[in-house]
Amino acid sequence: RAKALGKARYHVFDPAMHQGAIQLLQLETDLRKAINQQEFLVYYQPIVALSTSKIIGFEALVRWHHPQRGLVSPAEFIPVAEETGLITPIGAWVLREACQQLRIWQEQKLTQEPLTISVNLSVRQFSQPNLIEQIDEILEETKLNPFSLKLEITESAIMDNSESAKAIIHELKRRKIQLSIDDFGTGYSSLSYLHLFPINTLKIDKSFVNRLDKSQEDMGLIPAIMSMAHTMGMDVVAEGIETPEQLAKLKALNCDFGQGYIFSKPLESKLAVQLITEPLR
Ligand code: C2E
Ligand code: MG
Ligand code: MG
Ligand code: MG
Repeated sequence: RAKALGKARYHVFDPAMHQGAIQLLQLETDLRKAINQQEFLVYYQPIVALSTSKIIGFEALVRWHHPQRGLVSPAEFIPVAEETGLITPIGAWVLREACQQLRIWQEQKLTQEPLTISVNLSVRQFSQPNLIEQIDEILEETKLNPFSLKLEITESAIMDNSESAKAIIHELKRRKIQLSIDDFGTGYSSLSYLHLFPINTLKIDKSFVNRLDKSQEDMGLIPAIMSMAHTMGMDVVAEGIETPEQLAKLKALNCDFGQGYIFSKPLESKLAVQLITEPLR
């Protein structure tokens, strides 16, 4: 058996790898079709003010309704869309859809709060030369107040190309568009470096929030992140809150906002809108 395994290791052609390549190619082909056939949906997850339990906005999260496979997770297809450049048309569609939806909700005057819509931008989208042009077009088309739009980028979007990032962020700020750092703590940036950029919000990655349960006392890096963010004038969203213990600890730490299954999973727009008018926990 050992001998057979040892031998197999020297085969240049690895059937498992080949299988993976075929699947990837299939995914790319399907993704191209999906754009033409409009198989994408936007789901909305509420972002909640922890002191009042009120919904202050939603994050738009793309879903792919694959004709054979059903709902495919963005974790699976966004990286492929990035790789192939298909993220550009998909991202533009999500942005337009999300801005349109928020504008409709705002016009219905469902709350006193103005509500914001947060839209994810991948690294490639963020370095796309016509990004600003695209955003301008969509804002004009949908008549959404730019201040209601929050773009979520990761630390690497800034770190990978900080000069062009600076220019883009400057343009966003001129338009009063807000900016969040997503998955904060998983990248290699430092808060003091991020301080050079006009960022409104830090979203603490859910891996940090997860750990709030494990031990009674240790809150990990969250208290430090929170106090530095506040000192720098940023507000903080905790991502992936699932349990009452996590929520209680975050409230005790004066975390501004929260997002997670404890409030709601991402929902299609019809269900998400019901959350606005119904009280949350
Ligand atoms: P993200 O931007 O960090 O979004 C948060 C993810 O955490 C979402 O996964 C959401 O469903 C999930 N989540 C929220 N609350 C909880 C919780 O309490 N527990 C757990 N376990 N998970 C929770 P989703 O929708 O699968 O999206 C995954 C990632 O795909 C997003 O992470 C984002 O990076 C990317 N993505 C999603 N939509 C878009 C899009 O329209 N454009 C781009 N460029 N990326 C997108
Ligand atoms: Mg996000
Ligand atoms: Mg995140
Ligand atoms: Mg993410």
